[in-house]
Amino acid sequence: MSEMIPFEKALEITRTRAVREVTFETVELSEAVGRVLAREVRTDMDFPPFDKSAMDGYACRRADLDGALEVLEVIAAGALPTREVMPGQCSKIMTGAMLPPGADAVFKVEDSELLPDGRVRFVGTEPPDNVARKGVDLEAGDAVLPCGTLLEAKHVSVLASVGCANPVVACRPRVGIIATGNELVEPTATPGPGQIRNSNSWQLAAQVKRAGGIPRYYGIARDRLEEISDALRQALAETDVVLLSGGVSMGDFDLVPEIMTGNGVEILFDRVAIKPGKPTTFGVAGDRVVFGMPGNPVSTFVIFEVFVRPFLLAWMGGGTGCNDPVLPLERELVRRKADRMEWLPVSVSEAGGLVPVRYHGSAHFLAISRADGLIPVPAGVFRLEQGSRLPVRRI
Ligand code: AMP
Ligand code: MG
Repeated sequence: MSEMIPFEKALEITRTRAVREVTFETVELSEAVGRVLAREVRTDMDFPPFDKSAMDGYACRRADLDGALEVLEVIAAGALPTREVMPGQCSKIMTGAMLPPGADAVFKVEDSELLPDGRVRFVGTEPPDNVARKGVDLEAGDAVLPCGTLLEAKHVSVLASVGCANPVVACRPRVGIIATGNELVEPTATPGPGQIRNSNSWQLAAQVKRAGGIPRYYGIARDRLEEISDALRQALAETDVVLLSGGVSMGDFDLVPEIMTGNGVEILFDRVAIKPGKPTTFGVAGDRVVFGMPGNPVSTFVIFEVFVRPFLLAWMGGGTGCNDPVLPLERELVRRKADRMEWLPVSVSEAGGLVPVRYHGSAHFLAISRADGLIPVPAGVFRLEQGSRLPVRRI
């Protein structure tokens, strides 16, 4: 066993291992969300592509706004205007339709009055504009999304608008999941005496999916060398990243580090000054990496969020930041021990302040289910005053 290292050092070690030549593929727009762009995206046309009306109304000459105007035609979105607007004239125009030649302003239907002779008049108070000029937002060739963007729903509209129907994205990491423990039965079973349900595998699979990876489940391995070894060997052969839960602590049946070494995995750290998750073990075998995570459900959850998720994002070329917002503590936070940095579950109040949720340690999975995020309390810090500002890892 090696010495305990600080969280930041451990994070750096995992990050270094995530840096690689990104492999890529193209996807349909319907599959783009959650993927990381492997190429910059540029627009193939101006936005707006033509001078267009931002309102349903009447397109006219600005100079004519005080008089009654003859209506030439009705211009629908997608239609081309057929008449030039001359003095004393206007054309009825719909939102998104092309501005007719001669017109330089649009007044809204709500600001118009229809006269008995069929003409219209502007009756608004503010001089209207309501014209979106060609190219004000973007010009053809402008970059719209940088390489490395983690695509969210809000980006899909950009891709669609600029005609990027098959974005080039990073391949998703295949992530093997192995649960270890004699006490475990699957959620479909009723645990017998001394047994509990395996929650970690399902939780991890969900976390992997949310982080953009492809989970692959290898089942529950009993705490026996051969059984865990077989599962690890298979996972190493078939996946890019292997997650093992349980078996990394100091117990008589905690065999995982030994099994990692026995399967050619070089262990880079096996103790981190972090709570929960001190015995977190990280190793590499060629271009494969293995995370050995302590089995308590909260530990597994937290270790995934603070190590594995950033790792998977970086593996896909998506940078390492998790964009944690910084928010103030709503009340003072005190702890009795400060030898390790601690990730604490918090909720965010309506006022936007951080409120620690009731939490009694790494088996308390309900606390996590009630939390909005995790805050890092640094090693050496016993007390954080009300109002202290902390980054929140949203969960
Ligand atoms: P271990 O890290 O193997 O010492 O396990 C620590 C604690 O987490 C023990 O109480 C285990 O029963 C529990 N545990 C281990 N694996 C799982 C799992 N897959 N699902 C739920 N609890 C687990
Ligand atoms: Mg165990």
